[in-house]
Amino acid sequence: MSEHRSEAEERSDHQQSEHRSEAEERSDHQQSEHRSEAEERSDHRESEKSTLRIEGLRAGVEGREILRGLDLEVRSGEVHVVMGPNGSGKSTLAHVLMGRPGYEVLGGTVTLDGQDLLDLPVWQRARAGLFLAMQYPTEVPGVSLEEAMSEALRTRGRDAGEARELLLAEADRIGFDSRFLFRPLNVDLSGGERKRNETLQLGVLRPKIAVLDEIDSGLDIDALRAVARRVEAATKEIDLGVLAITHYRRILGELKPDVVHVLRGGRILATGGPELADELEQTGYEGYEDDTTATEPATTSADPFADPLA
Ligand code: ADP
Ligand code: MG
Repeated sequence: MSEHRSEAEERSDHQQSEHRSEAEERSDHQQSEHRSEAEERSDHRESEKSTLRIEGLRAGVEGREILRGLDLEVRSGEVHVVMGPNGSGKSTLAHVLMGRPGYEVLGGTVTLDGQDLLDLPVWQRARAGLFLAMQYPTEVPGVSLEEAMSEALRTRGRDAGEARELLLAEADRIGFDSRFLFRPLNVDLSGGERKRNETLQLGVLRPKIAVLDEIDSGLDIDALRAVARRVEAATKEIDLGVLAITHYRRILGELKPDVVHVLRGGRILATGGPELADELEQTGYEGYEDDTTATEPATTSADPFADPLA
């Protein structure tokens, strides 16, 4: 309920009432007949939709253009799926949106609710409400998930002390072993456990728009279902907008797409409804012409985070 509220509002809430649960917040709204104008206004803001708008985005790495004019718009509550063959630029899109160093923006704009994101450092993009679940979450020795989330909540003007409780609740929701919450972040975790870690973070941080880069890869069937369900629930509970990058239809059983895009050669070549994902599963990407030579595998790249299987 609170992700569309200003930091000032969050802070003032925390000063006035330290430990109010979400249920209390909700019941307050239901019970109080005589609500102040300020309350009405704040409700109005909460119901406002967010929009991530990507226009004419061109970006490259190491002097090579990879995204070649990409338009995409994701609003609160919507699930957009981007599918495309290996090397088509899917992860590049995710990295450029979040501001990973080394990726050069060559043209176009990216805004979140009108605010230009491309000029902001990564942490400010996150604070503005953008979230990235990485394809290959990195190990962070010496920092636990709880510590990382406490700090992230603090940056957002939320109560850092809530991190533990929120994480435990999120771990319970997706059936994740809570011992991992207090161990160094991602260290010695399997690929699937790291993906669930990313999902936990999404649940705690409650962003406006989440970019999920192959959140389904490496997950077993049960974990896949739990993660997909959690994200789908967030589209309803916090009106999350989702840009999900995936190779496979299977995640779409639980995470219901509104729009499916085919990305190839750094461009969106087709956009359609959920049926487009079914069609791709049948026919592959052959019908979608790649007019670039940008098809060499990622294994040739010097990027230590590049997909070794791409
Ligand atoms: P996808 O996620 O769709 O498989 P990527 O966005 O990872 O594709 O990669 C697109 C192309 O850009 C690939 O040819 C890849 O080798 C190249 N690439 C991506 N990141 C880097 C990098 N850091 N350095 C060099 N080449 C890169
Ligand atoms: Mg990728």
